[in-house]
Amino acid sequence: MNQNVDPAEIAKFEALAARWWDLDSEFKPLHAINPLRIGWIDERAHLHGKKVADIGCGGGIVAEAMALRGATVTGIDMGEAPLKVAQLHSLESGVKVDYRQMTAEQLADEEAGLYDVVTCLEMLEHVPDPSAVVAACAKLLKPGGQAFFSTINRNAKSYLFAIIGAEYVLKMLPKGTHEHKKFIKPSELDQYMRLAGLSAQSMTGMTYNPLTKKYALTARDVDVNYIVYATKPHAGQS
Ligand code: SAH
Repeated sequence: MNQNVDPAEIAKFEALAARWWDLDSEFKPLHAINPLRIGWIDERAHLHGKKVADIGCGGGIVAEAMALRGATVTGIDMGEAPLKVAQLHSLESGVKVDYRQMTAEQLADEEAGLYDVVTCLEMLEHVPDPSAVVAACAKLLKPGGQAFFSTINRNAKSYLFAIIGAEYVLKMLPKGTHEHKKFIKPSELDQYMRLAGLSAQSMTGMTYNPLTKKYALTARDVDVNYIVYATKPHAGQS
């Protein structure tokens, strides 16, 4: 693999893939945040009738939720097992998604400028060159298209919450799921977006309260998990 893919990262998700739709598995946090993040995206993107690419779709939690809201969704991932799980789940649920095993860069070469919306959630922190993925997402969009990225901030608090807390204390995720050095500060993501010609619009944090076991969107707190919304300018606009 010569591409912007870390085989060790793909292997982590291959190993867990069978449990992707198990609400009590390692994927419980992704299921738990799904209504919140999909709601936040839909408020901005009005998914119904839109053509959407979901980058790093895994077992399809995000892709299916967007298709259920009336979007036509293409889901791509480099993991074979997660995509198989996604395809089987789609057959069972009857929610249609076009799943393909490829990188964001490959899809962008084939289908540049065809998408209204691109989502890339909880994936950038698993990739060798996240800036190239952001650029590919921008390339996939039509002028005026909308991009959504989520990842984990890099600071002492995110080390404590996302790694020590989630992997060692609460054991919500397997040890080694995340590497702190691959986390991305909002300022860095902002720079990747600007380099890709995207214009940042808004951002919100996603927080977890271990006492109530509840997740919430909190605009003030982007210290750990966060989502960013950006747009691709129309021609002649900057
Ligand atoms: N976006 C989904 C899944 C996140 S898990 C959600 O938020 O629910 C991260 C996914 O990114 C995994 O399925 C993994 O296989 C995929 N991934 C990691 N590196 C990738 C790459 N370079 N290209 C495509 N997919 C990748």
